[in-house]
Amino acid sequence: MLARLFRLHGLLVASHPWEVIVGTLAVTICLMNMNSFSTSSQMCSWDNCPKVKEEVPSSDIISLTITRCMAIIYIYFQFKNLLQLGSKYILGIAGLFTVFSSFVFSTVVIHFFGKELTGLNEALPFFLLLIDLSKACTLAKFALSSNSQEEVRENISKGMAILGPTFTLDALVECLVIGVGTMSGVPQLEIMCCFGCMSVLANYFVFMTFFPACVSLVLELSRESREGRPIWQMSHLAHVLAEEEDNKPNPVTQRVKIIMSLGLALVHGLTRLTAEHAAHNRTVEGPMERLESAGTVWPQKVTSVELEHVITLSLALLLAVKYVFFEQADTESSLSLRSPINAASQIQKPRAAEDCCRRDQSAPKPQRSSTDVLATSACSSEVTKSMEEKHCDSFLEESSAQAGSAPPSCGPELRSVEECLAILSDPQRGPKMLTDAEVMNLVSLSKIQNYKLEGVLETPERGVAIRREMLSSKLPVSSALAYLPYKDYDYSKVMGACCENVIGYMPVPVGVAGPLLLDKQQFHVPMATTEGCLVASTNRGCRAIWLSGGCNSRILADSMTRGPVVRLPSACRAAEVKIWLETSDGFSMVKEAFDETSRFARLEKLLVSVAGRNLYVRFQSQTGDAMGMNMLSKGTEQALSRLKQHFPDIEVLSVSGNYCTDKKSAAINWILGRGKSAVCEATIPAKVVKEVLKSSTAALVDLNISKNLVGSAMAGSIGGFNAHAANIVAAIYIACGQDPAQTVGSSSCITQMEAAGPSGEDLYISCTMPSIELGTVGGGTILPPQQACLQMLGVTSPKQPGENACQLARVVCATVLAGELSLMAALAAGHLVKSHMTHNRSKTNLSEMAFPKPETTVPKR
Ligand code: NAP
Repeated sequence: MLARLFRLHGLLVASHPWEVIVGTLAVTICLMNMNSFSTSSQMCSWDNCPKVKEEVPSSDIISLTITRCMAIIYIYFQFKNLLQLGSKYILGIAGLFTVFSSFVFSTVVIHFFGKELTGLNEALPFFLLLIDLSKACTLAKFALSSNSQEEVRENISKGMAILGPTFTLDALVECLVIGVGTMSGVPQLEIMCCFGCMSVLANYFVFMTFFPACVSLVLELSRESREGRPIWQMSHLAHVLAEEEDNKPNPVTQRVKIIMSLGLALVHGLTRLTAEHAAHNRTVEGPMERLESAGTVWPQKVTSVELEHVITLSLALLLAVKYVFFEQADTESSLSLRSPINAASQIQKPRAAEDCCRRDQSAPKPQRSSTDVLATSACSSEVTKSMEEKHCDSFLEESSAQAGSAPPSCGPELRSVEECLAILSDPQRGPKMLTDAEVMNLVSLSKIQNYKLEGVLETPERGVAIRREMLSSKLPVSSALAYLPYKDYDYSKVMGACCENVIGYMPVPVGVAGPLLLDKQQFHVPMATTEGCLVASTNRGCRAIWLSGGCNSRILADSMTRGPVVRLPSACRAAEVKIWLETSDGFSMVKEAFDETSRFARLEKLLVSVAGRNLYVRFQSQTGDAMGMNMLSKGTEQALSRLKQHFPDIEVLSVSGNYCTDKKSAAINWILGRGKSAVCEATIPAKVVKEVLKSSTAALVDLNISKNLVGSAMAGSIGGFNAHAANIVAAIYIACGQDPAQTVGSSSCITQMEAAGPSGEDLYISCTMPSIELGTVGGGTILPPQQACLQMLGVTSPKQPGENACQLARVVCATVLAGELSLMAALAAGHLVKSHMTHNRSKTNLSEMAFPKPETTVPKR
């Protein structure tokens, strides 16, 4: 109801800007005349009033000067806010008039009430602080997001419907709060507070009438020159509203304000009544009289007062010059380039797909995006929703109207491709001067390669955002990517190293297990996993090891492998090459070529096999601290080309012939090892087995034989003689930036358990892992979060090449041992299912997630 009233008012004002402006100006001029008349006849103005001189302490002058400067800076920043809307002078002038008219209006009204303004000039800075242009900014943004004059009126009325009630309530509360000062009994304070109230009211009056009329008129006049393009997009507005907490009329705050204003009104009423009653009983002492009774006379402190004025004036002048000549040159140029989105993007980051269009409103929203905020704020009112939907509709219409990979465009018409390309290649302007829609258009026309977006645009993040936006419209649920974060990520480390066609990053919870007492050192092991119980269980194993005095480990072997396949004209010829490679001459020649490729890779061994006329050569080399697959591939390639020089009839089929074997289960790795081969052992006293693991040695040993040895043998397992080594390996690998696919070979492990100790009730356990493929340099280890996890383990500081990687392999092996202990104990005690039901079952309604209600889905387009 209230919103509708304000909406109608907004529509009226925006539709008749001339009338409103002329009317307001006329009223202001009339008031000024009446003011001068009244001042000449009976009252003093700031300039004319007989100055009651008094000695002003220098400390007061200093604090007054500081306050004035602060007020000027405050006003300057308010203007800067207006400036960012894209219009330097017009909105600035409108804002200036708002300030000015607030003063004039307030001054005149004060005079009409017969109040004295003596000394008020000292308080002027404080009144400047009362003037709030932020609402004006927001209203202007509504107006600036329009494509036509009709839309301007419509948007102003919508803005008024949203902002009007809040602003009215704010003005009321401010007046009542400041009004308390008018009852203080301190004459100066009473006048100042009275003036303050008037300033707030004047500000309110101007905001409700003059300002929207002015904005409407300005846009009408400038529409032609801007070719009907909106400066602001609604999505940007949504973004800004989301960021500006002040603009969200929180219902609770609103209620508090209403209650507060009622209370204050009551206080005012009571006080006035009492004052009137008292007035009958005594002679009323007016403010002037009270001032005179104070008997203050001002001796001239000319120099200090002049200095004060000089400082204030200089600052005001300085900021004015900065505003006029230096402020926001980019905005100006962007306007001249007609790049509306970029004008706005100067104050915000590139927006996400979800910032632009989100249809699936009922879907849960893990990230508080701008539209989410909009939906929960005042802008969630019907009015704003319809605006957003309208905007989204046009987005979707545009995107569906264009075939296949055509870009979804949120904005108005695009500049020509030639113009866009010229801007793109111009070092002065560059991609930042292109709108998102224009960039998408260039991508769809293959002028920019989609996979190169991060490199071409001014920031990788904008590239990612645009790729997401283009992708969103092709997904079954257009809001799907809302669940995938992408902001505030260092993509420079990802590009060309870790991932391509990036659309975000996957946050995975990271837990910590430990302390793990390994080789007399403590480790806190990071584990990235979504499997409940895993970290807790591993932690219990670590505790058991800790109470047992720790575990010990050794590295048995360290070399990475690469096994290419080459073909020869015949099987006999292949056999000849095999024999030659097994000679020291043959090995030396290949090694020389291989070793040239890296500072760390040194060929140690060649394992050669023949299958028909195919020849498989397994290159084996240490790789320092790197996992070494790239390193080995590089060296192998060079060695093969040297081999080909020697045997021209060799045909290289592939640098990898699966004889390596990488990321596939293979007996060769299990038997010969790959990467780091490690072993770890511990003896757990019977007491710890009983109290911490809640089991017995006999039960564990028995279960280990039945499950890990016989059970796996029955299953024909290769390297799978363990309970769940892969769980621990995968979690550490993901946390520490390892190649998670290498969990396949790296989790090969045989867990052995025996009864030990004099009584035979202690538990001896060992884990042997022959193919732990990992590194502490290269691959995903370069990413900051992964680096952090490696740092947790102390394997990043420079040491002998290979030392850090070997240490990491030991930690992996020892953590696997801890995991084996705990899981085997849980299985032996029959606790596994129970604890997983408690800690590993989602509390959310999975059936609802699997079969969402019909309205939550968006039909596939
Ligand atoms: P890499 O990052 O390709 O190479 C390691 C780099 O670090 C080399 O340039 C090496 O110098 C340098 N380095 C500096 N200090 C080092 C030290 N202390 N020890 C060892 N190297 C040091 O890493 P990579 O381990 O060889 O390859 C890992 C990547 O390969 C991962 O991203 C993985 O996903 C991927 N991968 C590739 C294949 C494939 O077939 N190519 C297969 C599986 C996985 P030098 O230049 O002197 O050697």
